[in-house]
Amino acid sequence: MSAAAADSIFSRIIRGEIPCQRIFENEHVLAFLDINPLSEGHTLVVPKRQCERLEDLPPEEAAAIARVLGPIARRVLVATAARDYNVLQNNGPTSGQEVPHVHFHIIPRRAGDGLGYRWKPKPADPAVLAELAQRINAAG
Ligand code: 5GP
Repeated sequence: MSAAAADSIFSRIIRGEIPCQRIFENEHVLAFLDINPLSEGHTLVVPKRQCERLEDLPPEEAAAIARVLGPIARRVLVATAARDYNVLQNNGPTSGQEVPHVHFHIIPRRAGDGLGYRWKPKPADPAVLAELAQRINAAG
């Protein structure tokens, strides 16, 4: 584990050393408002266990987040009168991850908010997809 991963800014928030606007907390999970929100209600949901990437998070911690994401989103929507939202989760610098501590963004969406959401997909060759699926299945 890198030094940054051992003590991310979110670990300091979890320990109460840095203030945040907490909106949910249990034994495994903390949710708080993003300090640079993309929209009103932009929330971060984080495991209390320090872990940089989702694939390294123990399944029980991931399950603890999965259990509360929907209910937290519902409360954010009610409070902000938004109807739609994105859940976003970045892993690694190429993906845009800035804080080396697993976190799920809940981003309320409103018509005309200008945030966009569609990347540019391209239709795949079915043979290429089949070969790729074989490789992924072989990866265990
Ligand atoms: P990432 O780009 O790593 O997926 O997202 C990191 C998020 O953490 C960003 O949206 C950023 O605004 C938020 N953030 C970074 N530092 C702090 C902080 O000290 N407090 C809060 N509440 N949010 C933070």
